[in-house]
This record gives sequence, structure tokens and C-alpha cells, in this order.
Amino acid sequence: MTYLFPIFIFLFGLAVGSFLNVVIYRLRTQENALKGRSCCPYCHHQLAWFDLIPVVSFLLLGGKCRYCKKNISRQYPIVETATGLLFLLIFLASRDMAQPDNLQLIDFLFLLAISCLLLVIFVYDLKHYIIPNEIVYPAIGIAFAWRIFEVFPIFRLLATRAGETKNWASLAVQALGEGGAFGFPNPLVNGAVAALIASGFFLLLFLASRGKWIGFGDVKLGIFMGLFLGFPNIFVALFFAFLIGAIIGVILMGARKKGLQSEIPFGPFLILGVLIAYLAGEEIAQWYFSSFAL
Ligand SMILES: [Zn+2]
Repeated sequence: MTYLFPIFIFLFGLAVGSFLNVVIYRLRTQENALKGRSCCPYCHHQLAWFDLIPVVSFLLLGGKCRYCKKNISRQYPIVETATGLLFLLIFLASRDMAQPDNLQLIDFLFLLAISCLLLVIFVYDLKHYIIPNEIVYPAIGIAFAWRIFEVFPIFRLLATRAGETKNWASLAVQALGEGGAFGFPNPLVNGAVAALIASGFFLLLFLASRGKWIGFGDVKLGIFMGLFLGFPNIFVALFFAFLIGAIIGVILMGARKKGLQSEIPFGPFLILGVLIAYLAGEEIAQWYFSSFAL
């Protein structure tokens, strides 16, 4: 039974990843991702359900369209697998998800939603050198909502006890009585200041380089990063983003694939930084402060 949950979460991630591929494609063509059947981008033949099984269809078809035999981008199975693995990772990193209460479930869903948006930004920025507003604004909104949810314990109380009674008004009064209306505003202040510092730093780089080092989309992504990570994790994310970016940049220049002047999108590195900071930020910050600080 305990194995079934992780397997289900992984398979669910594969299916969601398949949808994210559609979102990435249709963001470019400005079609509605929820409307219309999927079709081959080359021959526009409508795809049957058995062409749309994540990863499996790609492997069975040898990476070619069933109808026109053109190569299907490897992006499709890669994004599907990455989504499945990311969902699994979030599930394993969450405590007690075998029998979660409402609160843990809400946190889990928040994280799944954020990881989907970040995956789309990662691939889209890599492909098209732009971070779409349609994705980065919802990411900022969700991170902000998460902080609000954290700051006002009344929401948490309502969420945890929603099953007890249908009388929400009395539940709210009860929560207020337990001092649950206004919590310490620390998480929100923490996130907001981190957002200001990250996006302000990116804005300086953007202005100083006239958009050559960093795009304006990265400035917006900085707002999300700060709200989502807060201190000290935002510094961990920035450190790893610049470190990985520098390493990849040097490798690409060495391979002469990219000259000094050519553009490398920065969004994917920022998102890798977010992932590292989210999974191990506390430990890394603690290690850093105990090793180098007084
Ligand atoms: Zn085709």
C-alpha cells in the first residue's frame, strides 16, 4: 500500500507533464491549452489517445509521428519524466504524506502548482529566450497567497478543521478566540524583503547591461523567488544560479557553441537555484554560517 502512493504520484506527474508540453507549445502559438485536441505540429493530423500516453507513445513510435514520420522533439518525454520525478521528489520531501491532514494537502498542492509553472518557464526560456507573463504572474500570485496563508493562522485553522463542522462562521469565531486572526507577520515581511532584494538586484543588472545580461522576465521571476524562498534561502538560490550559469557558460564557450556576445537564457539557472534552495537551502545556509561566520 505504501508503494502505491509514490507510484501514483509519479504517474500523475507524467500525465501533468504531458499537459505542460501542450501549454508550452500553445503559449507560443497563442492557442488555448484547454481547447481542442492535440495534433502533430508538422502534419496537423489529430492524435489518437494511444499517441498521447506519456513517454510510452514516444518510445513505441521510435520518436516519430505515426502519420508523417517526422521526428518528435525529445522535449516531450523529457518534460513528462521531469514532471513525474519532481512530483515524486516533492511527495518524498513532504512529511507524513501517507495520511496527510488538510494543511499538508494544501501545502502539497501549492508546491505541485509552483513546480508546474517553474517547469514551463524553464523550458520556454530555454527555447524562446523569454519568460511568459502568463506563467510568471500566476507564480508570483501563488507564492504571495502562500505567504498570506502562513501569516494568518485563521486560514490554517479553518483548513484543518473544515471537516469537523459545516458551520464556518462559528469555526472562524473560535479561531479568532484562539488568537488565530493575526499571526506574526514575519513570513510575509521576510518574503517581501527577499523579493525586493532579488528583483532589485536583477533590475540593476538589467539596466546596467541594457537587457544583455539578464532579461526583464528575470526581474519578475526574482519577485517570485523572494516570496517563495525568503531568507536565507534566496541567497542560496542566487549563489547556485550564478555558479551553475558560469560553469555552463564556460563549457559552451569552450565548445564554441556560444560566443561571448551570444545570449544564454538565465531563467533556467534561476529555477535550478530555486530547486536546490528549496530542497537543501536551510542546511546549506546553516553550514555556511557555521563555517565562515563568527
Ligand atoms: Zn505528423
